[in-house]
Amino acid sequence: MTAYARRKTRQISVGKVAVGGNAPISIQSMTITKTADVEGTLQQIYALAAAGCDIVRCTCNETEAAEGLAQIVPRSPVPIIADIHHQYKMALAAMEAGVHGLRLNPGNIRKPEHIKAVASEARDRKVPIRIGVNGGSLDPALYEKYGGLTAEAMVESALREIAYFEEVDFELIKISVKASNVPLMIEAYRQLSEVTNHPLHLGVTEAGPLPGGLIKATAGISTLLMEGIGDTIRYSLTADPVEEARAGRQLLESLGLRERKNVDLIACPSCGRAEIDVIDVANRAQAAFADKKIPLQIAVMGCVVNGPGEAREADLGIAAGNKRGHLFVKGRNVAVVPESEMVEALIDWATYIHEHGVDAAIARVDTALAEREATKDRNMLLKEHGDDVNHADEKIVEIRKKVAGN
Ligand code: SF4
Repeated sequence: MTAYARRKTRQISVGKVAVGGNAPISIQSMTITKTADVEGTLQQIYALAAAGCDIVRCTCNETEAAEGLAQIVPRSPVPIIADIHHQYKMALAAMEAGVHGLRLNPGNIRKPEHIKAVASEARDRKVPIRIGVNGGSLDPALYEKYGGLTAEAMVESALREIAYFEEVDFELIKISVKASNVPLMIEAYRQLSEVTNHPLHLGVTEAGPLPGGLIKATAGISTLLMEGIGDTIRYSLTADPVEEARAGRQLLESLGLRERKNVDLIACPSCGRAEIDVIDVANRAQAAFADKKIPLQIAVMGCVVNGPGEAREADLGIAAGNKRGHLFVKGRNVAVVPESEMVEALIDWATYIHEHGVDAAIARVDTALAEREATKDRNMLLKEHGDDVNHADEKIVEIRKKVAGN
């Protein structure tokens, strides 16, 4: 695992998940069902947990939602946070329902007595609260004071809320200062991390649909993570929340900040040499491996001439050539399968390697035979599409003549 110098923050617990300090960076998402729909919400929570989500947030916007939470919390595989806006009484109701954490928006619960009533109850119940400042719902007084939405205004909003919490000795705090503008969000978190050691929840709010939303969120979150800022993350995408969980997991795994639990699919971008529709095969492989807990790097390559070399580091790979799929394990040819069975073969081999290891996988086949078959295809293709297929030498002579003639 690559270690980035992470800023030291205090540690809190959201149910069984530690956040801050040296705890692994956790992944959060939010359900999009009505919280009162207990079965529908639980189904989504289970799907999120299977996709790698550590903590799930549900809205608590009405009494029926709080009542739903009372049934959801004991059946949830992951800690549940209630999302509160406007109504401080919903925070009290959610705590009564047994939630593991709250998110309060200081922009829309502004009366000090309400804030302190919630914090006092949370202190007694040891329920952590996220101060969730959002660029889109900043306290109008701060908007006016700073002449608009600025990093300073968002940080001040968070600090004011902390001050209220401190008045009632409440310390189980994490903070977010999200904005949809990426440079603004980055600046706000940088400033915040200078003035507090409470754990930070990172996100680009309202990032939007794929792929733009993924890019914006990744730009903001990963820039901060690489600076050591951030203890828990959420992708806010206009998409199935399972995509948020997958994106969070993949980001942390690709930065080396979380241990790999799922397939890392690498695939060549394809080019004129490709022997198959690489995009289609890679997409089908991605769908097939989506939430399989197989921590291997798997390569899909468009040709056997360059593919195996380009994917030498992969645990398992397949390259297309001469209407066949050439499978290789740690760079060694192990089998040649019909093109139509490439994805199935990948799943079969990945499962075997995961269960029995690379050596056992190689030992189960005659690699000499596979190598002979692979070499046959490669040599044939090299002959067909090899270096001189363009009669380059003659063309070069012609080019030089033309240039000299001018
Ligand atoms: S592996 Fe083959 S098809 Fe894919 S980009 Fe490389 S040369 Fe092109």
